[in-house]
Amino acid sequence: MGLIDTHCHIDIKRHFPDFEAVLEEACRAGVSDMVLAGVHRTGWHRLLELSIQRRYLHAAPGLHPIYMKYHHSDDLKELSRITEKGGVVAVGEIGLDYQVDVDRAIQQQLFEAQLDIASKASLPVLLHVRKAHDQALATLRRKRFSGGGIVHAFNGSLQQAEHYIGLGFMISVCGTITYERSRKIRRVASELPLSSLVLETDSPDIPPAQHYGERNSPAYLPEVLGALARLRAEDVEEVATLTTANARKILILP
Ligand SMILES: [Zn+2]
Repeated sequence: MGLIDTHCHIDIKRHFPDFEAVLEEACRAGVSDMVLAGVHRTGWHRLLELSIQRRYLHAAPGLHPIYMKYHHSDDLKELSRITEKGGVVAVGEIGLDYQVDVDRAIQQQLFEAQLDIASKASLPVLLHVRKAHDQALATLRRKRFSGGGIVHAFNGSLQQAEHYIGLGFMISVCGTITYERSRKIRRVASELPLSSLVLETDSPDIPPAQHYGERNSPAYLPEVLGALARLRAEDVEEVATLTTANARKILILP
């Protein structure tokens, strides 16, 4: 069974002018499916088109909380329209980012509006959250969001991860866990139940340690898998099988 990269941005031509070669390498590395996370409206068309052309690419359109200046007031209406039409696996990436200097009230508004859109379309969400996990958790609870989803490149505490899991979310681990200095997140990844973990690369960002300073690529996903299995002292095959099954279940992949 192939691995699933639950979060990458290989659709962005500026970063991946060699898109076809990147897909081939990913395939050779054992990656069977890739989820393309949305950033802003301009990119949605390509996400959707790619997911129609190739059944192993999956579209998750959404409005990223740190790119506010790209977003327009009618983007939400368009997001509603395309999510209700079907053919997308999640709304993403959406959330709260308190690490950057972006108006928090506006982030909150956009996050909640997109949770409503996901709920209406019965879709899970891909969450992008930095330094705002308690606020994101409180929002999910207050909105009674029940669609679940994936907390992408998780960077919070074990307790926060457990709260997300309690709300029906999977925790996604990325290249960060390949760095010895990432003690906190390595501990979280080793202590959570395997039934709640999925894998991602977040390409072109967060390259694993062996590719430090390079552009990240879905072909490096086995390095995230290997690091996770080593941290947990578990069999690589078993970790691969279960993380893939988890991703398929939460995103309702074919
Ligand atoms: Zn991303």
